[in-house]
Amino acid sequence: MMTGARYNVYSEHLARKFGGKVYKLPVNLPGTCPNRDGKVGQGGCIFCDGEGSGFQCLPNSYSVSRQLEENREYFKKRFNANKYIAYFQAFTNTYVSFEQFRENILAACREDIVGISVSTRPDCLNDQYLDFLLEVKNEKELDINIELGLQTVNYHTLLKINRGHTLAEFVDAVLMTHQRGFDVCAHLILNLPGDDRIDVVENAKLLSALRVKYVKLHSLYVVEGTVLGEMFKRGEIEMITMDEYVRRVITFMEYLDPGMVIQRLVGKGPAESLLFSNWGVSWWKIKQMIEEKMEEMDIRQGSRFNYLNGSALR
Ligand code: SF4
Repeated sequence: MMTGARYNVYSEHLARKFGGKVYKLPVNLPGTCPNRDGKVGQGGCIFCDGEGSGFQCLPNSYSVSRQLEENREYFKKRFNANKYIAYFQAFTNTYVSFEQFRENILAACREDIVGISVSTRPDCLNDQYLDFLLEVKNEKELDINIELGLQTVNYHTLLKINRGHTLAEFVDAVLMTHQRGFDVCAHLILNLPGDDRIDVVENAKLLSALRVKYVKLHSLYVVEGTVLGEMFKRGEIEMITMDEYVRRVITFMEYLDPGMVIQRLVGKGPAESLLFSNWGVSWWKIKQMIEEKMEEMDIRQGSRFNYLNGSALR
């Protein structure tokens, strides 16, 4: 943790790890998800609009090389950047044939790429894909990590949001990934309908106990054309207040292992067709509120990280 910072900030972590600023180049590939195409579920998670989180990317018809090239040019011009992580962001990047996956990853192994981050579902990882990534890591000397969508540790909520996997698949995926020495980034939504602060605390405890390295927090947004959108319009779901979201993030941080790195505190939804997002406030303002509140309450990441390693014996 940097002096003065109350939590581990991702950009500062990257700068320390790679000896300078590092930028993520998003890669958006055409694809689907086993929770949308019928393999494990139909229709997807109730909040999913079918964009697969690729709404801020270049068109998915562009090749991996072209996307990396164009994004790199942008970062170079704007920030004078020279080190990058290829970020396979949209959809379920391992839910393609092994050959296709191999081709996509090898296309990203280029000069000035220092790492590869692969986003996927916990039920879409196996030994073959991970062993290949290990070969790439060793041969190309790249830093590789796997981003896993979990959203919540509450397996009742996972069922209600039609996630198509439970907590066990997440634990399995983390263990398999760690066996190869890769770090894991977990995605969580701290305000899913039905979840409360007890779930928030357990989210932090489970990620810490599993030695997950990175975490991305998102606030729930509601998009037109989704199951959640319909529920929202019928008044069937109640959103927590922004103050409660701020409090939940702080509670989460209190229980989190102080060694973990926070990649994001608040998400942002697609600009169009939003029914609800961040209480109508910009994401950076909410981030600022969280940081100010932590300061005011004198709370740091890990203030309550005292529950592992036989805590009852101390
Ligand atoms: S796992 Fe991701 S892409 Fe698949 S349905 Fe859920 S949100 Fe959409």
